[in-house]
Amino acid sequence: MSTNGTDRQLDEKNIDGPKPVNFIREIIDEDLKMNKNSGRVHTRFPPEPNGYLHIGHAKSICLNFGIARDYYGLCNLRFDDTNPSKEELEYVESIKEDVRWLGFEWQDREYYASDYFQQLYDYAISLIKKGKAYVCDLTGEEIREYRGTLTQPGKESPYRNRIVEENLDLFTRMRNGEFPDGLRTLRAKIDMTSPNVNMRDPIMYRILRATHHRTGDNWCIYPMYDWAHGQSDSIEGITHSICTLEFEDHRPLYDWFIEQLGIHHPQQIEFARLNLSYTVMSKRRLLQLVEEGHVTGWNDPRMPTITGLRRRGYTPESLLHFADRIGVAKRENMIDVALLEDSLRNDLNKRAMRVMAVLRPLKVIIDNYPDTVEELDAVNNPEDPAMGSRKIPFSREIYIEQDDFREVPPNKYFRLSPGNEVRLRYAYIIKCVKVVKDDKTGEIVEVHCTYDPETKSGSSQSQRKVKGTIHWVSVNQALNAEVRLYDRLFSVEDPGGDDWKNSLNKNSLEILNNCRLEINLAGAKPENRYQFERLGYFCVDYDSSIERPIFNRTVSLRDTWAKIEKS
Ligand code: ATP
Ligand code: MG
Repeated sequence: MSTNGTDRQLDEKNIDGPKPVNFIREIIDEDLKMNKNSGRVHTRFPPEPNGYLHIGHAKSICLNFGIARDYYGLCNLRFDDTNPSKEELEYVESIKEDVRWLGFEWQDREYYASDYFQQLYDYAISLIKKGKAYVCDLTGEEIREYRGTLTQPGKESPYRNRIVEENLDLFTRMRNGEFPDGLRTLRAKIDMTSPNVNMRDPIMYRILRATHHRTGDNWCIYPMYDWAHGQSDSIEGITHSICTLEFEDHRPLYDWFIEQLGIHHPQQIEFARLNLSYTVMSKRRLLQLVEEGHVTGWNDPRMPTITGLRRRGYTPESLLHFADRIGVAKRENMIDVALLEDSLRNDLNKRAMRVMAVLRPLKVIIDNYPDTVEELDAVNNPEDPAMGSRKIPFSREIYIEQDDFREVPPNKYFRLSPGNEVRLRYAYIIKCVKVVKDDKTGEIVEVHCTYDPETKSGSSQSQRKVKGTIHWVSVNQALNAEVRLYDRLFSVEDPGGDDWKNSLNKNSLEILNNCRLEINLAGAKPENRYQFERLGYFCVDYDSSIERPIFNRTVSLRDTWAKIEKS
């Protein structure tokens, strides 16, 4: 028998199937019909290495790599590292690991915007020579003032009409480190009265003495995002530059730079970013959660990061399925996190091995059961006969869930109570005959039962039916374990406001220290996933040890928060 849930999982990447239909693919279909880009499809996923990837990035990854896969095209992984930052290396590594884990490959096309610093500089020189860029001495503050507003045009900078030679000289000296940080900028010369503020002579370069992780101290001027991004796309021969909606107003600038330079022109296409209920998604906020200790790290199982979801027990397939299911929209919207959980349940239901575990144990002694250990047959996954069956030990002393016993049962309580019968999963029908309590506290310490030997599960005489079936674990053949129960990190649907930290859910983690697991779970390894019968899906945590397994609750069996429609 196999207790290794993950081996199976790796074999079954069910990412084939009907291809999604969306407006971006329609644009690509149209382009292919017109033989635009000689029929090439080349996308890129361009993360800034300033944090770990989250589920929103997963959507973008699925979109970009998914399109490349389905159109026999290519997708580059490009680190948009125009902002020098210290932790870059850790983030770069984590991003690569996450993309691979999702099942995508960029082969040798791992690029960095910083690799193009020289080319971008040369492009800037050519714009200066064409009279399309100038060195400006206004301070940051002044530039903002001169820019105008959405309702008022901007004012031209007094430095706007510098002659080409002076601009070339000053820009070269900016690059050579002759001026202090922030003293001058290079700006595109476009139109200060444009209704689109992005076109009002945007900054292309600023002076900044910061050590860059890849280029070291080679540069003391750094390109702005808008200047770097489109040109990087062009250099790589990208055909469709897919980005989120906030860049829609930047598209005229994207196009302007490329047209002025007369270089390959990728098409920018915007889509709505993913927003999830009960979740914050900005990297800045996620970093705050980590730095302020609201979570244990980027891979805390409550985080919406890919690494956090993975540790929680999410499968790559469930994330891919979720991405397909939510589709690609042109307008901002909020997706119910229950939909993500539902994609996960659907996937785990098919592949997770069933086992028995008792989270809050109550000892049951079966008085008439002999002093022996019996091996009973249990089905590994009713959804998948190929997963086979296993033996589970049964004996005179077992644990059941405290919740599955009531001394005074409420109405319609079909579990164990004095004088009442219940079926033990894969075993026998037992009847409660006595309750033993602690003299001092009155707490129930054990429950005595008798069993009916004629009622063994699966045997031919086992005709008798009772209303309830409960799970159990044999006392002397059990693993002691810690189980971490997670709930949503935020207690309000949209924790988006400035006071977002006030809506952190104080009860998002409950640790149970005295859980008992079926002995077959011995040897379970981090990331192995199981269904604990009747309780939910659980995944072995990285903190786990051989002596003491630790399980994270991935998701409960049913959605306890909201009702959602099955699609
Ligand atoms: P954040 O706002 O969290 O800092 P970002 O957009 O600055 O994210 P990048 O590293 O620049 O993060 O993102 C890389 C790619 O992922 C970009 O193309 C971006 O548009 C996309 N992306 C980021 N967040 C989302 C999201 N929530 N939904 C879909 N795509 C996203
Ligand atoms: Mg960004």
